[in-house]
Amino acid sequence: MTIMTDHTKNIIEIQDVSFAYGVTSVLKNITLIIHQGDYLGIIGPNGSGKTTLLKTMLGLIKPSSGKIRLFGSECNCFKEWSKIGYVPQKAINFDPLFPATVYEVVAMGRYGKRGLLRWLTPGDHQLIEQSLRQVEMFEYKDRLIGDLSSGQQQRVFIARALAGEPEVIFLDEPTVGVDVKTQEQFYALLKRLNQELDLTLVLVSHDIDVIANEVTELACINQTLIYHGEPKEFVKGDYLQKLYGQNIRQILHDH
Ligand code: ADP
Repeated sequence: MTIMTDHTKNIIEIQDVSFAYGVTSVLKNITLIIHQGDYLGIIGPNGSGKTTLLKTMLGLIKPSSGKIRLFGSECNCFKEWSKIGYVPQKAINFDPLFPATVYEVVAMGRYGKRGLLRWLTPGDHQLIEQSLRQVEMFEYKDRLIGDLSSGQQQRVFIARALAGEPEVIFLDEPTVGVDVKTQEQFYALLKRLNQELDLTLVLVSHDIDVIANEVTELACINQTLIYHGEPKEFVKGDYLQKLYGQNIRQILHDH
């Protein structure tokens, strides 16, 4: 975990990145820098390219043009993938029959560091336990993952990411399908991880009204980068119309 946070240090640099699926252009000339300690929300309507942008940052797809640097290295030369934790959207639809305990799921987060066939050391077990405590799921460690609620499963997946000692965690639409109270607890947890552990968080969501109140920085995309900066400036501006059309004004009215 990062001890001294340097908020001016570039962790991820996206430089003039474009991407197309065949002839369909999805991202156009996106330039965006993520600094250490940022809590960045990437928002935009469905189909605007958020997940595609995330995939380019994770090295899962290669930009058609432009460059991505992770912790100072070109994405295709980058080797320290354990610095990046990922909580995928699908985590919430976990197979209820998957026969692993909560502890075993979080232990998977150590294999990125150790290699699959290595025994876990006492230090690994300590980190797994600490990660479970950080998300307040330690007392559930022996339960089967499939027996937990979606919100609890999501906390376990955060713990799995934490167990890998990442410097940044990416989350893709983490609260789809959970109730409002669970969602509030989840965002409280993310805020704590960002503020107390100085963990850099990148959260992808279409849920702009919630996200704008949680993150410290917003990047709004709809193929191109429409806005990057503080959420309050975004809310004041007329970016929403550019992004979603007229109807969104009402959604943000209360904030
Ligand atoms: P978002 O995450 O903002 O909803 P995506 O990045 O998933 O948007 O998708 C952006 C666009 O790319 C959409 O129009 C989607 O239909 C298209 N797309 C996504 N994945 C593929 C794929 N594997 N093949 C072709 N088109 C895709």
